[in-house]
This record gives sequence, structure tokens and C-alpha cells, in this order.
Amino acid sequence: MTTENIWNAAWREETWRSLADSEWDVVIAGGGITGAGILREASRLNLRALLVEQRDYAWGTSSRSSKLVHGGLRYLKTGQLALTRASVQGREQLLAEGQGLIDPLGFLLAQYEGDGATAGRLVYGAGLTIYDLLALQWSHRYYSPLDFQMMAPYISPTGLRGGFHYQDAQTDDARLVLRVMREAAGDGGTALNYVRAEQLLLDGADRPVGLRLRDILTGRSAEAHARVIINATGAWADNLRVQVGEEARIRPLRGSHLIFPAWRFPLAQAVSFMHPIDGRPVFAFPWEGVTLVGTTDVDCPPPLENDPSITGDEVAYLMAAITAHFPALSLTLSDVVATFAGIRPVIGSGKADPSDESRDHVIWQENGL
Ligand SMILES: Cc1cc2nc3c(=O)[nH]c(=O)nc-3n(C[C@H](O)[C@H](O)[C@H](O)COP(=O)(O)OP(=O)(O)OC[C@H]3O[C@@H](n4cnc5c(N)ncnc54)[C@H](O)[C@@H]3O)c2cc1C
Repeated sequence: MTTENIWNAAWREETWRSLADSEWDVVIAGGGITGAGILREASRLNLRALLVEQRDYAWGTSSRSSKLVHGGLRYLKTGQLALTRASVQGREQLLAEGQGLIDPLGFLLAQYEGDGATAGRLVYGAGLTIYDLLALQWSHRYYSPLDFQMMAPYISPTGLRGGFHYQDAQTDDARLVLRVMREAAGDGGTALNYVRAEQLLLDGADRPVGLRLRDILTGRSAEAHARVIINATGAWADNLRVQVGEEARIRPLRGSHLIFPAWRFPLAQAVSFMHPIDGRPVFAFPWEGVTLVGTTDVDCPPPLENDPSITGDEVAYLMAAITAHFPALSLTLSDVVATFAGIRPVIGSGKADPSDESRDHVIWQENGL
């Protein structure tokens, strides 16, 4: 099936009217990358699959990320080899299948005095060796301070001990969602945006058998029944989970970015360095003709109904990082052309520091949801 005739107003109307009469195998709430991927796999398996998204596709976190298709280098630090291998394999597969949408991205990892530079060199060298071996490539190399500055000309030379170069990848996260969604539609999957999954429909044993849906554009409602209901609503997942009696477990963490014009903050590749205040890794990287600087990692308790936005404290935090590491550019707030923020759907475990919470994914089966 081609996707040319879908996603227009007439198609949407016809699809809405047939929702209740259709026998769905699976209904998915949430039109980010998770929901889109599930819709694609379900459609490939010839299942009758429906996805609903309350706003635009990828309105949530999947259009507000750092756009990196990384192989999970940071997971090596905590010994999560299996997760790193899965991430590396995912990156390589996306690079192979997503030409024009997933591009290689060089990464520079600056090492300064006080970063534990000597131990850091050994540890990062070992980590990057494993990272490369998992991808069956040899992309990393250590550079002296002078050579490193040639690749990152505006980086502060004060205390610079050198640094690594290695290879990762980047994408346009929102376009990736749309690509996956269109592939799913091409295989017969149905996706409707501006439709909210409002209420789980439960059977006599309190197991979900469908969803009550609200058309955000007209206010009307409909029911969709399915054998399987999947909650792929990311940071909003608790809203449906509590309807099957589960406790809220999502700890929404906001991550924000500053955007500079490339001519004010020119970079040929990504540069990562430690924040001078708390030692968290911060990075700056070129993307679509601008330079992004990110990110923060702060609690952002519900409600999450409005577009998340950066706070003054986060702006100050990111500006402190780049003025410390790129003083020669004399960047000020007036150079910032835009900002964006997204909410990480992290599982809370009560850690004091948000950045200590695991970034691993989980799949829960909870009372049939
Ligand atoms: C600052 C930041 C940087 C990041 N950087 C990276 C990175 O570089 N690389 C990387 O791989 N990952 C990165 N991530 C993580 C990645 O972005 C997320 O893991 C991913 O986008 C989550 O996708 P999702 O589909 O689960 O959630 P979302 O994209 O949030 O999708 C959930 C969707 O569900 C919808 N929804 C909610 N409730 C309902 C309802 N009741 N009915 C219908 N729809 C509903 C929402 O509108 C939303 O669109 C980053 C995250 C942040 C915040």
C-alpha cells in the first residue's frame, strides 16, 4: 500500500468513523519513537494495529532530544556491556538502513586537568576500544592538546591535557518518527494524531480491553477495542498506568538545550567536556546549520500538559559551561537564537541526583496493559 492517500482530512474522518467497528489486534497510545516502532513491527506482522497520538506525531520527547544515535558509551562506565552492545548494534543498523536520515558524527572528548585526566585517558581509552570493537570498527584516537585544538579551535587551552576523537551518529529525531510511522502505514498500520487515549475500557476482571478516545480537533469520542493495549506515552505513562491500579513510577526529568547560530559557535563535530560546577558531561554539536548545547537533567514534576521550556537556572548552567570551555568566542545570552526542552521518561528509584537514575528501558506487563 502507498501512503499517498492517507493522513488527509477525508481519510482521517473515514478512519475515525470506523474505529468502533474495527477489530483491532493492538491499540497503541503515544506517537513518539516508541509507539511508532511498535506500530511498525505490529504492521509488519500483519496485525491490525492502531496508534493514537494526542498532538502532532513526535510532539513529546521524540522531537526534543539531543538527536544523537549513540552507541551507549556512557553505559560502559557502569559496566552495562549488554546494553552498550545493543545500542551499538542499533546505531550500526540505523546507519545502514537510514541513509540520508542517520549520519555519522565525529565526537571530541576533551580532557582537562582536574577531570582525572591521566586515569581518564586510560579508562576512556579502554572504554572506547570496547566501544569500537563492539561495532567492528576502529574509530577512536587520542590527540595531544595542540592537535586537539586544531580540531576544536575555540576550546580553552587552559589545563587542556588532550582528548579523544571517536565516531557516533546523529539524526533528525522528529523526522525519524515520521519515517517509521510512514513505513508502518505502508504495511497497513493505522495512525491518528490529535486523538487522546482518555480512558482504559476494562472487562469484568478489570483487564483492559480497549480505549476511550477523544478527538482533540472536534471534541467527539469513540471506543477502540483490541486484544492488546500498549501504553507508549513516555513521560505521561503513569496517567494510563494508574487506571489499572499501578503506582506512579515515572520521574520526569527535563533536559534543555541552547541553540546558537553556527557562525557564532562554529564546530565541525561534537565536543564533549565536563561542566565546571558539577562535573556532568555537557556537549556542543553541529545540527542542521546551528550549534546545539546541552543538556540539563532536572526534575520536572507533573502536570506535563504544556510544552516544556528551559528555566533561567538551566540557561545559566549551560552558559557557565560554554563560557568556561569556549572563552575565546565571548558568547553571551544575546547570541542564543532559540532553546528547547524535553522530558525524559525515567523510572524513579528515589536517587537524590536525577542524573544517577538509570536510563535503561523497561517493558512492563501490568494487569493486561
Ligand atoms: C533532553 C533530552 C535529550 C535526549 N537525547 C537523546 C539522544 O541524543 N539520543 C537518544 O537516543 N535519546 C535521547 N533522549 C531520550 C529520547 O528522546 C526518549 O527516550 C524518547 O524520545 C522517548 O520516546 P517515547 O516515544 O517513549 O516518548 P515520547 O516521544 O514522549 O512520546 C510519547 C507520546 O505520547 C503522547 N501521549 C501522551 N499521553 C497520551 C494519551 N493519553 N493519548 C495519546 N497520546 C498520548 C505524547 O503526546 C507523546 O507524543 C533524550 C531525551 C531528552 C529529554
